[in-house]
Amino acid sequence: MKVFKLWLDPKKCKGCLRCELACSFHKSGHKFFNPELSSTTVSRSNENKKIIMKIDDTCDFCENEDAPLCVKYCVFGARGAIK
Ligand code: SF4
Ligand code: SF4
Repeated sequence: MKVFKLWLDPKKCKGCLRCELACSFHKSGHKFFNPELSSTTVSRSNENKKIIMKIDDTCDFCENEDAPLCVKYCVFGARGAIK
């Protein structure tokens, strides 16, 4: 599935970090989980406690997967893909 853009909705995010694990699974060639490998991060602001979601430029939109794994495994609907 060719993806051109990802969207993020911090208001729906629960901070479970499954997306970071899923991304690291993709980045490791389906070998292991390590959030340090993730192209996407989720954190909470110390100032206003709001969720901060980011995707850096190492994201390859999960080429060769049937869907972007960070989207697929976010069960709260806080991410999506635009084809
Ligand atoms: S998987 Fe979804 S709800 Fe969980 S931290 Fe990532 S974006 Fe937020
Ligand atoms: S689309 Fe794939 S590579 Fe990009 S942030 Fe999501 S899981 Fe990581």
